[in-house]
Amino acid sequence: MKESKNTGVYICSGCNIGDAIDTDKLQSIAIEYPSVKQCQVHPVLCSPEAYLKLNDEINEQQLDSLIIAGCSPRHAPDSLKFSEVHSESVNLREGVAWVMEAGHEDTQAAAEDYLRMGIARTAASGLPEPYIPDAPESDILVLGGGITGIHSALEGARAGYSVVLVEKEDKLGGRLNNMHDIIPASGSKQTNLKFFLEEKLEELDASTLITVHKNTSLESIEGEPGKFLAKLKNGKGASECKVGSVILANGWKPYDPAKLTNLGYTDHKNIITQVELETMQKEDRILRPSDGNVPSTIVFIQCAGSRDKDHLPYCSNVCCLTSLKQVSYIRQKYPESRIFIIYKDIRTPGKNEHIYREVQKDNHVFFTKGRVDRIEKLENDSLRMIVEDNLLGETISIRADLVVAATGMEPNQSDDLHLLYRKGEGLPDRKYGFPDSHFICFPYETQRTGIYAAGAVRTPQGIQACMEDAGGAVVKAIQCIESTKRGEAVHPRSGDKSYPDLYMQRCTDCKRCTEECPFGSYDETEKGTPLPNPARCRRCGICMGSCPERIINFDNYSIHAISSMIKSIPIPDEFEEKPRVLAFVCENDAYPAFDLAALHRHRISPWLRIIPVRCIGSINKIWLSDALSAGYDGILQIGCKPGEDYQCHFITGSELMKTRSENIQETLQTMMLEPERIETVFLEIDEYHRIPEIIDDYMETIEDIGPNPFKDM
Ligand code: SF4
Ligand code: SF4
Repeated sequence: MKESKNTGVYICSGCNIGDAIDTDKLQSIAIEYPSVKQCQVHPVLCSPEAYLKLNDEINEQQLDSLIIAGCSPRHAPDSLKFSEVHSESVNLREGVAWVMEAGHEDTQAAAEDYLRMGIARTAASGLPEPYIPDAPESDILVLGGGITGIHSALEGARAGYSVVLVEKEDKLGGRLNNMHDIIPASGSKQTNLKFFLEEKLEELDASTLITVHKNTSLESIEGEPGKFLAKLKNGKGASECKVGSVILANGWKPYDPAKLTNLGYTDHKNIITQVELETMQKEDRILRPSDGNVPSTIVFIQCAGSRDKDHLPYCSNVCCLTSLKQVSYIRQKYPESRIFIIYKDIRTPGKNEHIYREVQKDNHVFFTKGRVDRIEKLENDSLRMIVEDNLLGETISIRADLVVAATGMEPNQSDDLHLLYRKGEGLPDRKYGFPDSHFICFPYETQRTGIYAAGAVRTPQGIQACMEDAGGAVVKAIQCIESTKRGEAVHPRSGDKSYPDLYMQRCTDCKRCTEECPFGSYDETEKGTPLPNPARCRRCGICMGSCPERIINFDNYSIHAISSMIKSIPIPDEFEEKPRVLAFVCENDAYPAFDLAALHRHRISPWLRIIPVRCIGSINKIWLSDALSAGYDGILQIGCKPGEDYQCHFITGSELMKTRSENIQETLQTMMLEPERIETVFLEIDEYHRIPEIIDDYMETIEDIGPNPFKDM
C-alpha cells in the first residue's frame, strides 16, 4: 500500500474562501498531523508565483505529496497539477465557501472536516506507479475492408501508424461493390462511385504503411491494449499479427424482409428490397423478377421495419435518401415510369434536402404519407398496396408492378472478433445490437478497451458519415496506443496512471471482480482465480467495490484511504443536534453537478460531508458500515442514471449499485437500523438545481428517524 509521509498543505484564501473561512485556523489544524511537513496559506494559489513557490518547496522540503485546499479538483488549473508527487484537492471553494454562510461556525466546521479528510486520504495514498505492457505495439488492426475500413486504414497511415487491414472477401470495397452509385445520384454511365472507390484503392496501394489481407478470416484476438495478438487464416495458411489497438469496421446487414409479414416478401415475387434494387441498377436492368418485364408503376415503401417497435425501433438514417437516389435513376432511365413513395416522414437532413425537392418537382412521382396495412396479389403477379393512416384519413389502394421495401440497417455481429476474453467473444451491446460503451460521451468506444467501432456497425449511417467515423475511431485507436505506452488510462479518467492492485494471497476465487468488471479486464484460471489485464482497465474501481475481501486497491484510491477519510472527522453527539450525512458522489455527473450548484451559489446544508468516488459502483460495503459505526446519521450515494438510457460513464456501475443497495437495505434491517439510513440518488449533470432540495429532504428524513443509535458507541 502506498503512503505519503511528507505532505505539504497549501491553503488558498482567494475566490471568497478567506471571507467565508478562517484559514489560519485551518493551518493550525493541519500542522498538528505528523504526516504534514508544512502548511501555508496563500492569497492566490493558482498564480504563476505560487506555482514556482510550490515547485521550490517540493524540492527543498523533499515533499512526497501535496494537498491543495482551494477550488474544486475539476476547476483546478494546470498550474496546480503535479506529476512528480502525489497530490490531493480539498474543495474549499465550491464545496464550502460558495455554498455555505460566510463566517458561520458550521461553515468553519465543514472546512476543517474536509481538510482532515484530505490529510487522512493523502496519508493513505501515494503517487501511482504505472503499468506499462512489455514492449507495447503501435500498429492498428482494422477489421473489414468496406468504406469505413478503407478510410480507417488511410487515416491511420496518414497519421504515421502502420495498419493491418483484414477483409474476408476477395476484394475491398464491401457493399460499395454492389452499388450503382453514391448519393447524390449522377445519373451518368460514368458513376461517381467508380472514381470514388478507385481513388481510395489507389491511395491504399501506394501506402507503404498499410498491409492488406484479403480472403482472410480472423481466428482470434487475445491480449490487451498495446499487446493484442490477432490470429489470421487464409488459403495460404495461418499467420499472426501483434497490434496496439483494433478498429471494428465490419459494417451492416439489411433487416430481414421476411420478418415484415404485412408485406409478404416471401409470398410475392415482385417485392424486392432497396439493396436488391441497387444491384439491379448496377447491372443497368430494372426488371420484374416474375417475368423480366420493365415495371411501369413502382411503389417504394419507406421505413420498412424501421421506426417500428416490433422490428427496428430506430431510424436507419440513409433509406430515405437512397430511395430518392434510386427514384432519380429510374425516372431518367424509364421516362414513362410512375413512382409512388409511401412514407412515415421523409428524412433528408442538411443539404440533402435539395435532393428531396428535385424529386418532388417530378410530376410522375407521388409522395403518400401512410402505412402499408397489407399487400394483395393481382393477376400477372402485380400487387395492390392497401395504405392506411394517410393524410386523407381514408384507406387507399395503389396498384404496382414492382414494390421496393426500404428495409433498415442492422449491425453485423461483433462475435467476428473472436475475443479470447473471459466475458465472451464479441462486444457487449446495450441497445439494438450496436456495440456501445457510452452513447453520449464516448462515440467509437466499446466496452472492450482498445477496440473501437466505426461505421454502420456502430450506428446506422451513410458513406460520408462512415468516413468521418473512421477518422474518429483512428484518433481513439492512436490515443489508446500512446496512452498505453505511458501507462495511462484512455478515458474517462484520461491520464490516470493508477490501476487495480490485487493482494492475491487473500483471494477466495469468488469471481465477483471478474463478473462485475464492465470492461472484461479480468480473465480467470479454471479455478476462478482472477487474471488481471491492467491495460484493459478503465480505472472505475467497480471491482474494488465488489470485492468482499477488500483486496483490490489503487495506489491513489483504496479501501483504506476512503475508510480513513470517513473516520477522520469528529462527529457531533446527539445532544448537539447537528446531524452528519456522508455523501459518496460520483465524479462523472454528480460531482460536476455539485460544482454547478456552487457556481449558481445554491445553498447546501453544512451538515453534509462529500467524498468523491470514481463511480458509485466502486463503493465498497465496508465504507458504509465504517460510516454508520463512526456515527454518521445517514449516507447518500449519488451517481449517474442507470437503465436502458443509462448515463453511467462506467456502463453498469450505477446499475450494480442499485442491486447492491437492495442487499445493503437487508443488512441495515438485520442491524436494526432504519432503511432510510442509506439512500441512493441518481442525478444528471444538468440537474444541479435539484441538489439543495435533495439534501434538505434527506436531512428532514434523518430528523424524522432521529440520530444514529451507533453514535457514541
Ligand atoms: S472493474 Fe473497473 S477498475 Fe476494476 S478492472 Fe474493471 S475497469 Fe478496471
Ligand atoms: S472479488 Fe476479490 S476475492 Fe473475489 S475473486 Fe476478485 S479479488 Fe478474489
